[in-house]
Amino acid sequence: MSDQKFSTNVLHAGHDTTQTAGTRAVPIYQSTSYVFNNTDHAANLFSLAELGFIYTRLNNPTNQVLQERLAAIEGGVGAVVFASGASAISTGLMTLLKTGDHIVASSSLYGGTYNLLNVTLPRLGITTTFVDASDPSNFATAVQENTRAFFVESLGNPKLDVLDLKGISKEAKAAQVPFIVDNTVATPGLLNPIEHGANLVIHSLTKYIGGQGNSLGGAIIDAGTFDWANGKFPEFTEPSAGYHGLVYHEALGAAAYTFKLILEGLRDFGGALSPFNAFQILQGLETLPVRIRQHSENALALAEWLENREEVAWVNYPGLKSSKYNDLAKEYLPKGQSGIVTFGVKGGFEAAKKLTDATKIFSLLANIGDTKSLIIHPASTTHQQLNEEQQESAGVTQDLIRLSVGLEDIEDLKADLTQAFAAI
Ligand SMILES: *Cc1c(COP(=O)(O)O)cnc(C)c1O
Repeated sequence: MSDQKFSTNVLHAGHDTTQTAGTRAVPIYQSTSYVFNNTDHAANLFSLAELGFIYTRLNNPTNQVLQERLAAIEGGVGAVVFASGASAISTGLMTLLKTGDHIVASSSLYGGTYNLLNVTLPRLGITTTFVDASDPSNFATAVQENTRAFFVESLGNPKLDVLDLKGISKEAKAAQVPFIVDNTVATPGLLNPIEHGANLVIHSLTKYIGGQGNSLGGAIIDAGTFDWANGKFPEFTEPSAGYHGLVYHEALGAAAYTFKLILEGLRDFGGALSPFNAFQILQGLETLPVRIRQHSENALALAEWLENREEVAWVNYPGLKSSKYNDLAKEYLPKGQSGIVTFGVKGGFEAAKKLTDATKIFSLLANIGDTKSLIIHPASTTHQQLNEEQQESAGVTQDLIRLSVGLEDIEDLKADLTQAFAAI
């Protein structure tokens, strides 16, 4: 772990230039496999007697730099990257859980994660109780004898609820289950969940970390703080049939889960990140500290402006004094509250659709965290598969517009929305 600061780590952590022919940029190692010195060397790599590269589905030198950098900036003992955020979440949970296990999750989650927990995992016998995450005691109430994880988003997408992470982490500790926090929207530039008790941190690298809307990627950062030997996770304390008898907890200590993710998660589910995408994401990560500041500044300015528009019914941004999450934002997101703003348009569903059709700078698409400004009407798009009750608990009302505020000049963004309001 590096003891340098965030803005230094995003540029340097994990890259030893003497190992890459002096290249100042991290090279793209576009290779599927790695030549062994001899069969003994190969045998040592497979048995973990020696660490090294075997096959890019497991690891790759470009990806390795990204992994070490992410571990450094989130304060973890290790990190693993994946082909997408969704791949990180599904592989992370499948590596941890088995049929009969149970999750307690916030009801305010990214739509794809909600569907994974609500529909797909139950098909495999892994069930989830969704709770109102604004009160940590709701997690304790939902715990069952078979509960094996708590799952939340530090800044919910798209509800923008800021959670009492310390309070929820206490409940996770009491239940002896890992506390998993998706930190995609807040980013490590604004919040480090591990400081507040998270055991595992998840990112869609596709969003602010890559930051330019050109590459999918995902990551799990392992704080190394969870006690896998507490009796609830025999897969970590008994010989693994999946990796020739390896006892993860005994052999790998704090890095047990990180290695299980690579040796079983990536090997079996195959969601490896392309080294080219790792390179693109590394380029983005270099400027995350300056971008996320500007995204936050633009978003707050636009949210304040929207509050004074007569076409607008309500505005939700945790940095606004009117937000019910403002006190929690001051505690958990004092440096800024990221770039997502939601608001309701007077006129409801139809007016909201018209507005999203009329913007010119704000692109109508299903992504967040791009340098360019984005707009979407979740009720008719990303969350259309949920019924109205599920939409409400995810914070998606019929009139809700989600903005991902980019780095354009704020006056141009206001002008674009002004002309779009006129089109309703
Ligand atoms: C986008 C997103 C994901 C999924 O990531 P992909 O890279 O699109 O697979 C997960 N969680 C949150 C909070 C997201 O915004």
